[in-house]
Amino acid sequence: MREVSILIELAVPDLSGNERKYLNECIDTTFVSTVGEFVKRFEKEVARKAGAAYGTVVSSGTDGLHMALTACGVGRNELVCIPAFTFIATANAVVHCGAEPWLIDIDEKSWTMDPELLERELAEKAYEKDGKLFHRGSGKRIAAVMPVYTMGMPADMDRIRDVTDKYHLPLVADAAAAIGAKYKGRNIGNLADATVFSFNGNKTITCGGGGAIVGDNERIIERAKHIATTARVGQDYDHDMVGYNYRMTNLQAAVGCAQIERLEEFVIKKHYISDYYKEHLKGIPGIAFFPETDWGESVCWFTGLVLDDTRNVREVCDRLADKEIQTKPFWKPVYMQKPYLHVEKSDMDVTEKIWRHILTLPVSTCLTEKQLESVVMAVKEIL
Ligand SMILES: *Cc1c(COP(=O)(O)O)cnc(C)c1O
Repeated sequence: MREVSILIELAVPDLSGNERKYLNECIDTTFVSTVGEFVKRFEKEVARKAGAAYGTVVSSGTDGLHMALTACGVGRNELVCIPAFTFIATANAVVHCGAEPWLIDIDEKSWTMDPELLERELAEKAYEKDGKLFHRGSGKRIAAVMPVYTMGMPADMDRIRDVTDKYHLPLVADAAAAIGAKYKGRNIGNLADATVFSFNGNKTITCGGGGAIVGDNERIIERAKHIATTARVGQDYDHDMVGYNYRMTNLQAAVGCAQIERLEEFVIKKHYISDYYKEHLKGIPGIAFFPETDWGESVCWFTGLVLDDTRNVREVCDRLADKEIQTKPFWKPVYMQKPYLHVEKSDMDVTEKIWRHILTLPVSTCLTEKQLESVVMAVKEIL
């Protein structure tokens, strides 16, 4: 490990709103645990801001994915189609259900799951029996499709929905970093049967840790909530299945309530940061920027550069770290991770082509103009 003091960090939260006030209210009223007004309020606000009719909050994005998949009927020895280019939590949540991921490559235009490839894979490698879809090689049932809104960019959900409708598959969206994004001009909270957000510390809004599941299907959201809250029935100690304790605490929700009040402001700042880097770095030879699409407006959770073959991302990061600027490579594909070396997967042409070339730049919403200038200067000097 290198020991350097980092002055400009990659993604730190801005907690300068009502966070402290709301946390003090929790302490003053002793409502610090899983019951409390902030939990209810945050649950409502997340659904409202995402444009969904229903929502429930949980202890993390990963747990949210696990609960959303479970509520959509994913179980043991089944398969869930997910993109290969994602954070490992997407795949882990599938395995937490007892299922296994089937990895689909992304499309180059958006870095999100390629709908055409998904359709081709299913047409070639699956068969239908008794209204269900099975994988030819393993005989496993295909239980759901879960695209990821990469760095806050929605997948092309109309086209993915066409495929899942054709095969009667549930559709869950891993929108972990995408609250505030738009798809064809509208909100993203009801494009899938269930949509999951993360409020981890490096996301656009944070609870310290936390997640939410939103959607327009009351049955699915209520079921997710039921399983995430020990599957309790009524007010006494009655439980109708093996549930989980994935509840969010009032402390987390208090921070979340303060953060979500500033969502629009944060999204504007994220766009500003992304535009700023593009504007000031565009002349550098051998670099490109992250994709933009005609269907989606990303929240630009992360912004950065795609470096050409002549450069090594790790080396560039190290040289920027010497200048006290924290930057990072991005996700290493799921099929290169030890637990997932042998899972079913499509060709990986696009993932293979891009993943080693991505450099993420500082994107905290509290970045000052001066800090942005120093990042740009340092990057220009090194590249
Ligand atoms: C952050 C993230 C997650 C996990 O969320 P946690 O709250 O950290 O569990 C899952 N998927 C994607 C795409 C993410 O970016």
